[in-house]
Amino acid sequence: MAKWIKVSGLLVLLAAAVLAVNRSLVRPNTARADLVASNLSNRDFPYNGVTVAANRTKRWDLPIPVKHMNDPRLLAAMDEIEKQLGTVIFDRVGINGTPDNQIRHGIILSVGTAVGPKGTQSGFTGHVSATPSSTGYPPNFVGSNGIISARFYLNLDNSNGELATEEIAIHELGHAMGFGKHFRDFGDGRVIGPGFWNALRLLYSHPPGTAEANL
Ligand SMILES: [Zn+2]
Repeated sequence: MAKWIKVSGLLVLLAAAVLAVNRSLVRPNTARADLVASNLSNRDFPYNGVTVAANRTKRWDLPIPVKHMNDPRLLAAMDEIEKQLGTVIFDRVGINGTPDNQIRHGIILSVGTAVGPKGTQSGFTGHVSATPSSTGYPPNFVGSNGIISARFYLNLDNSNGELATEEIAIHELGHAMGFGKHFRDFGDGRVIGPGFWNALRLLYSHPPGTAEANL
């Protein structure tokens, strides 16, 4: 009986070790691969025209100024991102009353201007861009150090009257915070899911300009 207990205990320990290895390796590796495809790589929009900080992380220095105009979805989206990342991410005061043309650094909410790849399209209720109703990004929005700094518009709701959800607002903040290409749990399958949060946590737990090997 004593031997059986000992063996059984060993099996339990082995099972626990396997689970620990899964937790410590598999999930972060998925997050790393997602982050490499969506942020470090310069193969896809918006990084396909960016020549600086290739194969390194691109993100904002914190906090990120947001002109949210007290939109409840955007406020809830910022709350959820800060809860998930466990720290203050956004400056909600600095530019909230500033005229758009005086803002050089930050994210500005624009309501009713969301477009898809072919203009206003059913189902497209959010996107990030340099100007409302367009899809291009600001020029030189990434510095050679990997720091994102520019004036971005976060467009919610389209001109057909279709409204963005809080999940869409989080997804679009994900783009504005540095994600490009969609991946599983970020536009592929789900608007946002656990894979999105893992990749966003990984991006913001390292300084801008971090190489893949150091993630
Ligand atoms: Zn998207």
